[in-house]
Amino acid sequence: MRSLGEKCAVFGVYGKGLDVARLAFFGLFALQHRGQESSGIAASNGDVLTVHKGMGLVSQVFNDELLSALKGGIAVGHNRYSTTGGTKLKHAQPMLAAGSTAVQNVSYDDPHPSLNDSVSLCSGPDDGAIALAHNGNLPTTDALAAYLSKQGIDTTEFSDSRMIVEAIAAKMREGAGFTDAVKTIYPLMTGAFSILIMSRDQLVAIRDRCGIRPLSLGKLDGGYVVASETCALGPIGAAFERDIAPGEMLIIDERGISSEQLAQPDPKFDVFEFIYFARPDSHLLGRSVYEVRRNFGIELAKEYPLEADVVVPVPETAIPAAIGYAEQLHIPLHMALTKNRYIHRTFITPEQHVREQGVRAKLTPIPEMVRGKRVAVFDDSIVRGTTSRQIVQMLYEAGATEVHFLVASPPVKYPDFYGIDTPKQADLIAANKTVPQMRAYLGATSLHFLSYEGMLRATGLREDELCTSCFTGAYPIDIDVRAKEVRRV
Ligand code: AMP
Repeated sequence: MRSLGEKCAVFGVYGKGLDVARLAFFGLFALQHRGQESSGIAASNGDVLTVHKGMGLVSQVFNDELLSALKGGIAVGHNRYSTTGGTKLKHAQPMLAAGSTAVQNVSYDDPHPSLNDSVSLCSGPDDGAIALAHNGNLPTTDALAAYLSKQGIDTTEFSDSRMIVEAIAAKMREGAGFTDAVKTIYPLMTGAFSILIMSRDQLVAIRDRCGIRPLSLGKLDGGYVVASETCALGPIGAAFERDIAPGEMLIIDERGISSEQLAQPDPKFDVFEFIYFARPDSHLLGRSVYEVRRNFGIELAKEYPLEADVVVPVPETAIPAAIGYAEQLHIPLHMALTKNRYIHRTFITPEQHVREQGVRAKLTPIPEMVRGKRVAVFDDSIVRGTTSRQIVQMLYEAGATEVHFLVASPPVKYPDFYGIDTPKQADLIAANKTVPQMRAYLGATSLHFLSYEGMLRATGLREDELCTSCFTGAYPIDIDVRAKEVRRV
């Protein structure tokens, strides 16, 4: 099976005496924006690993009783996000595998997982069980698949994450200790990954050599937490310690913390985390996401200072950028598009017609704020153009005289292979239309994207510290056979 593109959240906690399942629950709850399709937590009581995972939001998957059943001093959790591939329980994480020779052919997969909404699993005490949670995507899994088939394991139904956990477990069954197995399998992984793996007595965090997806370490009551974003630390009372470094393996166990560099670091943090994914109260590479987004707006104001009567952000992500723009040009800002808070990110439904409905169900204009006005509407990005087109239409219907569309990022021209899951290049509007053609398609009075240089300036980071492949088509990690899906535009 082709590996699945996933923008996900991972969360891990280690600490004797801590209520690890509840901490993981609240950590995942703070990371809900990174994935709404499924959620899961694995916990170790030092003897067996117990997992509960299910389809839906964190609050829908867990209740008090289920959390109470997840006992122990170590936990890893995962929220899954996917727009392609199956929206099935068998892709939910954490994924369990058995690393002990005592149980050669154990598969923890439910035989008919797609028929169920949730599943609870428990390892045997002698299974050498491990549980894995992965954020990112491996565009090529050839080396992992080759290793697994040498072990006689059929990988046809495996996602990239399943291959990783099975390969580590297979290495353990050959006699390697848990952390040595992780080290040996690490070079077989080509792609973007921020991964947490636990055995019954250790928690391991690894990050690809480019550090494409975020991963941060925090401290809590003598224990440790590792989370996709720093916004998960505050709500559970943890203090930020540091980011896990690109290419680093961090081991947390009863001796404390130890770290090893598994690959020469070549930092290339995904700039789209700043643009869209991350929560505004997170810090990425030590920078406030809110401030960077506000800078996007300030830069755009320098590039395209419009004469507009009102600036209107598309909630939520674009709000700080719209504030920056409005402040810079002294234009009033109004929340003239109201978002239904109970509807989640529109990409959640993969089918186009459902997604189109989704935008109208999610956003409604307030006519009193736009009637008779020249409106500068602000979004963080244009991907397919579906959302923007409807927004322009809604604002005209609400009485706007002009609708200028401002975008807090450059045109997305190239597909992603590292886990942000933009659609195929054929579906990216900027890969197929010029800016004037896009403006005409949206029906907007004018359309302005932030320049590439303006985006870099706003982050305060150097171009060579970032992965900007969706704007440039330069992929820092080999995308192998998938390169044929990319057309230079
Ligand atoms: P579109 O209608 O395809 O142009 O979608 C653009 C909207 O989707 C913007 O409002 C963004 O906030 C949001 N967006 C951008 N990238 C992603 C992504 N990878 N996943 C989900 N939503 C996204």
